[in-house]
This record gives sequence, structure tokens and C-alpha cells, in this order.
Amino acid sequence: MEWDREAVEEFVKMPLADVMKETGKLFTEKLARRNRSDCVTLKELEETKRVYYDRVPEGVRNRELDKRIAEGEAGLRERMEKSAREILERDVDLFNVNLCHAKYFRCISQNIEVRELKKEVEQKLRDLKVSEMIADMLRDDERILAHHKLTVSVSGCVNGCTGPETSPFGVAGVSKPMITAAQCTECFTCVDRCRKNAILIRKGRPEIDAAACDRCGNCIKFCPNNVFVSEESGYRIFVGGKFGRFHHDGYELFKIADKETLMKALEATVELIREESIGEESLTSILNRVGVAPIFQKLYQENSDTTKKVKLNITGMSCKNCVGHVTKALERVKGVTGVKVDLTSQLALVEFDCTRASVKELEKAIEDAGYGIARQPASPGTSGISGSCC
Ligand code: SF4
Ligand code: SF4
Ligand code: SF4
Repeated sequence: MEWDREAVEEFVKMPLADVMKETGKLFTEKLARRNRSDCVTLKELEETKRVYYDRVPEGVRNRELDKRIAEGEAGLRERMEKSAREILERDVDLFNVNLCHAKYFRCISQNIEVRELKKEVEQKLRDLKVSEMIADMLRDDERILAHHKLTVSVSGCVNGCTGPETSPFGVAGVSKPMITAAQCTECFTCVDRCRKNAILIRKGRPEIDAAACDRCGNCIKFCPNNVFVSEESGYRIFVGGKFGRFHHDGYELFKIADKETLMKALEATVELIREESIGEESLTSILNRVGVAPIFQKLYQENSDTTKKVKLNITGMSCKNCVGHVTKALERVKGVTGVKVDLTSQLALVEFDCTRASVKELEKAIEDAGYGIARQPASPGTSGISGSCC
């Protein structure tokens, strides 16, 4: 948003610490939006001064800063003005994307790259205008403060060093193990490394208790003989968590999701806040009221019109290469928007635009690739694949 010259000069003189100047900028721009203007003028800034400074009780003001200003600390005003001009120049966000220590080094446990993800999440939140949304939800006479920020926590693995389960929106990197035909030497490293006691070595072969496994990926990383490989890696997603005095564990949206689903889930969550939040109501409180169903409805509402899902029973697949061939054959059909092929169950789950493709075309693509279709158990229009069922 534009600022006129007089407003800029008045803003940089305001005796506020940088953190308050940042939120003061957002507050002032919110007032301009209310006034249906795309340029901040002195009119809005007078109100900002009243709310951010004049009206603040003496004991609550930044006394240390007041004292330093009153004493005329050398260069203080110049430094404050300089940083205020910088604040006006850059984006100020009402959200935090917190990363675990995998942002500093390659953590032995990490399953996802966190730094790149942070950039993408921040961009998404900017595109969704989250800062404006939060500012507009607050009363016009209420200062915007740091605790109004939306927090997204990103952890490289299920150890969750940033507490994704207790964040409004939390993400943890996961890797789902799959057992290969490689020779197991019964060294028991995987058993020792599995903190969920999900691995049993029986007759010289490992077995995984899928219900106990939390997809930490340790068995994949530490087996010396590559008996385990990652079948799928992605993001475990939580919403509505809270830490501190009113601690609340978040709801698990997905046990494992891809990047696209992660971004859609973030968007759906922001939309829910936009629609449902009453004043300062937290996401935890909203979800306790309405549940997570509205998030899933938003996530999959585009499916209601022309997007269909079908499960196809395939015959003749014997290895991962076959899975690759079938996946590619299906993806080549025009109108197909998503394919997931599973070797164990011999099933393909295909999402497609029914105005551009048909089940017959999908079956033909599979047959042309050299595989068969077992037609009787196919279940067109499969629903309920969303959610924490993967
Ligand atoms: S969350 Fe996992 S990847 Fe991140 S620092 Fe902790 S142990 Fe490492
Ligand atoms: S992924 Fe982790 S929890 Fe699952 S079986 Fe392997 S070591 Fe155990
Ligand atoms: S770590 Fe690998 S080789 Fe060792 S017991 Fe487990 S599966 Fe077998």
C-alpha cells in the first residue's frame, strides 16, 4: 500500500520500538482499507498514534525506550527513523514459520527439506493475504500484537522439535518404510532404532506393525543391508494445536500427504479462519466448535463437479517397475489429475476430470501398457480417501 509523504515523516518519528512499528504499520494500513483508500494519510496515522502510544497506560509503555529518548541518547532518533523507513519498505507479516534445527545442518533424522518448505509456506501465506486477514479481524481500537500472529511449525521428522502437534498448523516430515527382498543379517539394528517397537524379526525377516509405526524412517536410514526402503515420504499435518497455559493437542489432518495436499490444507485452514473466526478466536477454539470436517470439505470441494475418482484392480504387476509403467500410462491420459498405484493390493486409484477422460480410456491405457484389469471389484466414485486414512 502507498503512504503519502506526510504520513511517512510522521510515522518514522513515532517513539516506538521496531516490533511495535511493524504492527503499527499493519494497523495503519488496515485503517486505510477501512476508509476504502489505497494510500495511507495523516488521518489514519493520527489514529495509530492514539492507539499505539497516547492511549497506552504509562506502566505498559516501553519505559526503557521512553527513558533513552528523554535522556537524548546520541543517535537514537536517527537509528529509529532509519529502521522505521526500512519497515515501510519491506513486507511485514502476521505469521511465523518456525523451523527445527534441520535449518542449520543436515539432521540425521530429517525426512524433508525444511528451508525450501519455509519459503513456499511463507509465499502461500502472503498470497492468501493472511496478514491483512488477521489485522482486519481485530477491533479498530485494538493494537496488533505479536501473539496475534498465525504460527506454522515445521519439523524435519516426527521427533517434532518445533512442536507441530501443539501449533495452530504443524508439519512433520515422515517416511513410510517398505520391506525389500534384500538379505537380512539379523543384526537387530532396526529393532534397536525403532522407538515405537514396531519391528519384529521373525525367521530371518523383519516385519512391521503398521499400526504402531509412526513413519520416522529410522529403519530405512540405519539398516546396513538396505532391507527397508522408503515407499513414500511426505508431510504429517496437524491443525488447531496450542501450547502453554491452555495446552491443546492439534487434530491430525493427514498421516502422510504430498506437497500439493499440504498447501491445499494450509489454504483450507486459512479459509476456515477467515469464515469462522469471531474476533480474536483461536483456531483451536474454532476447531473445537466446528470440527475438522469443514477443512476436508474445502479441500475436496472441487471434486464435487467434474472430478471423479476410481479404483481399478490391475493384474500382472510384479515389481516397482511395473508400478512405474502403470502410473506413467495412466498419467498420459488427458484429463487425469492424480494417480496412485499400489503393488501389494494391485490397485490403482485414479483421479480424473470426467469431461475429458472416461474409465474405459483408463482401462485401455493399462491394457496398452501390457497389464490386465480385473473388472468385477472395481469401485467407481470412491470417496473417503481423504483424511488421516493413508
Ligand atoms: S525435528 Fe527431527 S529433523 Fe528436526 S531437528 Fe528435530 S530430530 Fe532433527
Ligand atoms: S519407520 Fe520408524 S517407527 Fe516405523 S518401523 Fe521404521 S523405525 Fe519403526
Ligand atoms: S537392520 Fe536390516 S539387516 Fe539388521 S535386522 Fe534389521 S532388517 Fe535385518
